[in-house]
Amino acid sequence: MEITAAVVKQKGGSFDLEKIQLDAPKSDEVLVRIIASGTCHTDMAARDQLMGTPTFPVVLGHEGSGIIEQVGENVHHLQVGDHVVLTFGYCGDCGKCQRGLPAYCENFLPLNFGGSRMDGSHSHHQNGKGIQDNFFSQSSFATYSIAHKNNVIKVRKDAPLELLGPLGCGIQTGSGAVLNSLAVTAGESIIISGTGAVGLAGLLAAKAVSAGTIVAVDINEERLAFATKLGATHTINSKKEDVTTRLKEIAPKGFDYGFDTTGIPEVIQNSLATLASHGKMGIVGVAKRPLELEMNSFVATGLQIIGIVEGDSVPNVFIPRLVDMYMNGQFPFDKLIKTYAFEDINQAIEDSETGKTIKPVLLIGDYKG
Ligand SMILES: [Zn+2]
Ligand SMILES: [Zn+2]
Repeated sequence: MEITAAVVKQKGGSFDLEKIQLDAPKSDEVLVRIIASGTCHTDMAARDQLMGTPTFPVVLGHEGSGIIEQVGENVHHLQVGDHVVLTFGYCGDCGKCQRGLPAYCENFLPLNFGGSRMDGSHSHHQNGKGIQDNFFSQSSFATYSIAHKNNVIKVRKDAPLELLGPLGCGIQTGSGAVLNSLAVTAGESIIISGTGAVGLAGLLAAKAVSAGTIVAVDINEERLAFATKLGATHTINSKKEDVTTRLKEIAPKGFDYGFDTTGIPEVIQNSLATLASHGKMGIVGVAKRPLELEMNSFVATGLQIIGIVEGDSVPNVFIPRLVDMYMNGQFPFDKLIKTYAFEDINQAIEDSETGKTIKPVLLIGDYKG
């Protein structure tokens, strides 16, 4: 079938809406009419060949939401007409998947960054030739998407489908880090460094479980003011204030948790220096430099530092839970979103990169009325 997709033709290039061909779904696959897709920094990292190093042309996009149009013959838990969120790809068969850790799937790289199906085939074609696709097993910057049955998550129909795509990656990553990986509970304290979509999703999650002290650290005054609106009890502008001094004033006995989304070694060290004994630090930021650790403090006080992928989410369980929390008013992640027409994809990407918009979502298809 003919679809419209945003095609990137060269490293660092623009997203150009073009007509291309999409195959029918294979036996384990699902054809989804895309209603909306979030944009995430990983799309830009792939465009710039910093991550996954795709070749070009490529169809990116990995926070799709939509409605099922067709299912392959081996798909039994999903039906035509289901409202779905597309999440990261995982095989379901490896040891990690079997242990309930799909974000650490042994086939994570080929299934999400491989540029094709595992067998090397493409579902997208242009001018008779296969093009790079299957990005996060979905390539959702398009009017239709082929996804694997594993990464198609059914959601309730009374939720606003056009807003749900980011639950498949960025929002899931931040909220999952706080709810699943760190498992913050009521009254506990947390430092959140970096107030992008992932950090703020973590903040909303901390608020949702009634964490006690929630400190947001950033250099963007506007974002810090917004963090306060979302529930941060304290904010620190690390350009203007001495972070560790402030953190020690706020929590003299130390913090229970740190959650870093910046990947900047000094920022992580500031948090580590003010964690309480047995404190836990979760990191998700892409780092450009190595992190030096004061090892004795780990040995002496049982500090922990953990890398987190996709918020340790089991998507079939976690995404519907986030939707319920949103519908109950407990997790207002829509406050992070600004919507754009699909045609304005390059503006959306630019606004994300400059920080003007926290989480852009492209409106691609209609479904109401
Ligand atoms: Zn697996
Ligand atoms: Zn992402």
